Parts: sequence; C-alpha cells; structure tokens
Amino acid sequence: MALSAATAISIHSQTLSPIQAVPAALQQLREHGLRCLVLTNQTRIASGELDEKALVASLLALGVDDVFVCPHPAVVGCNCRKPHLGLFRQASMRYAFTAQEAVVIGDSNQADMGLALAAGCLGLHVATGRNEPASGLPGIIEQPDFAAATNWVLTHYGSPI
Ligand SMILES: [Zn+2]
Repeated sequence: MALSAATAISIHSQTLSPIQAVPAALQQLREHGLRCLVLTNQTRIASGELDEKALVASLLALGVDDVFVCPHPAVVGCNCRKPHLGLFRQASMRYAFTAQEAVVIGDSNQADMGLALAAGCLGLHVATGRNEPASGLPGIIEQPDFAAATNWVLTHYGSPI
C-alpha cells in the first residue's frame, strides 16, 4: 500500500524521552516521507506540574513534526482528551490527512487505541511505556515496542526511498 502523506503518532510522553530508539525511529519515518505527530493527554499541565511549552519543545527536539496537547483533567469533559477525537481532528485539519492515511501508535489501550478505533484508523499498540497487555481488540495490532511498530509501518505504508 502506498499511503501516508501523514502518520499520526500518539505517544505517552512521560515515557517517550527515555526510550533510546525513539529518535532514530522517528527519523526513519520522516525519511520515508511520513509525518510524525504527537497527540497527548497531559492533565499535569492543568495541575501546574508540567509546562506545556517545555513539553512541546522537548517532543519537537526528539524529531516529531508537531505536537497536539489536551491539557484538561478528565472531569472537564472536553472533546480533545483521547479517546475523544478533538486532537485527531485538529491534526488532520492542519495537515490535511484522512483516517485511512493515518496510523496511531500508542501504549494506552483506552486512550490511544480507543482513539484509533473512534477515528477509524489503524492502531498499533506497543507493550512498552505503560506495559499494558494486549487488548485483543479487533483492528488493533500488537507490537513489542516503538521501533518494532515503526518497522511495521514502514513495511506496510512506507514509500520506496
Ligand atoms: Zn482537552
């Protein structure tokens, strides 16, 4: 399949930076013309524990193309907190891609794979990060870690170099 002008990647940002293979994997995706976007729920911004600008800067420094943040606590009931579609819609409008052109990679079955299912795009759940077991949900592909998920995406969606 020769898809993917855009790839939406959803990563648990608390665990993103320590994973050594992530920057190399992101670079590989971008070299194949795939856009790497982070969609992240960060209630710690609302509580003041985390600075949104610093978070975004640290993620951009890892080599992602853009970052979309829901800073709201769950009790607010906003439409951007994954698995709600707000962040996905913002990203798909800014970068003009459809659900069929996007793949969600994430470590949360509830937030990330829930988003993939709600948006109607492919979801790749990684076992690292939250260390959640595979959900067994139909339409979700289980991968051991982010690098493996990257390889899977490149095999199935990467355009030839
Ligand atoms: Zn929100």
